[in-house]
Amino acid sequence: MPFEREKQEPSCPDCGSKDMRLLLSRGDFVYPSGELYHLHECGNCGLVCLPDPAAVAAATDYPASYFKPASGLTRVLEKFFNWRRVRFLAKYRSPGDVLDFGCGSGEFVRALTASGVPCFGLDPHAPDAGPDGAFIRGTLDTAALRPGALGAVTAWHVLEHLADPHGALLGLRRLLAEEGSVLIVSVPNISSWQAALNPGKWFYLDLPRHLRQYSPETLEAALGRAGFTVAGLSHFSLEYGPYGWWQTILNVLGCEPDFAFKYLKRGDVPAVKNAALRAYTVFVTAALAPALIPLSVLLSWAESAAGRGGVITAAAVPNRGGGGNFKGA
Ligand SMILES: [Zn+2]
Repeated sequence: MPFEREKQEPSCPDCGSKDMRLLLSRGDFVYPSGELYHLHECGNCGLVCLPDPAAVAAATDYPASYFKPASGLTRVLEKFFNWRRVRFLAKYRSPGDVLDFGCGSGEFVRALTASGVPCFGLDPHAPDAGPDGAFIRGTLDTAALRPGALGAVTAWHVLEHLADPHGALLGLRRLLAEEGSVLIVSVPNISSWQAALNPGKWFYLDLPRHLRQYSPETLEAALGRAGFTVAGLSHFSLEYGPYGWWQTILNVLGCEPDFAFKYLKRGDVPAVKNAALRAYTVFVTAALAPALIPLSVLLSWAESAAGRGGVITAAAVPNRGGGGNFKGA
């Protein structure tokens, strides 16, 4: 039987306001547990989040299949997208080591290394360090890193998973060199067109692993509070934008939630009691693919052109004189 958490008056984890509006309640699409999660929007600062994110984070399992390495076509695509990330970073980066914060299985670190960029990854689930020490398994609190030494930090789809993103941004700010350094942050955009299509079925809601949902405004505010100024914001992600549309449309059409994702990325599609729904899902996913995949690319391009992209990537530079000041535009 479904049960609910957070029935008591929620408050905003960023500004403390009690003016929290319930946006929607939903279960976990990828690893269904029967539990419902209640996404709120703060009436004061605009943050969209699960109230008490630290408690949700502590109670949220990441099953082994979440970290399963890609294989087959998804592996080829992953390599291509990491090559694009290397090129994106090169536009902003000046000399100095690069930290990939929340490096996961380490594929982006390997792509940077292959391009001759000095780098390392930090993640509680990082691979073994290896002879060149390219990976540190841990967190900003446990890793002994020298302040002011890094040329760049990348955080690809990390911030929305953290119970304390402000603490992490302050920590990253301290690690970056005062001059010429950059922080690249990529997150889903709750104010995108693909989220607006049907917020409860939007693929990148990914409850309960995504504790917060950023918009360009709330991301810029979060970066500003930690001592960064946004120097550039991209609304297009070939890796995430079209895929978000495709899976969201399939969810809206009544398919098993996030079925294509589970099948393609996680390789972890449990048997279901509802055989008719599984048959419908497989049929619709396959039959509509030739039309839906190009349509998703088109929609992704259109929402990006309108400044409402499904995934946003900010290039942020440290404010001079340390963190903590809001200097966002
Ligand atoms: Zn707030």
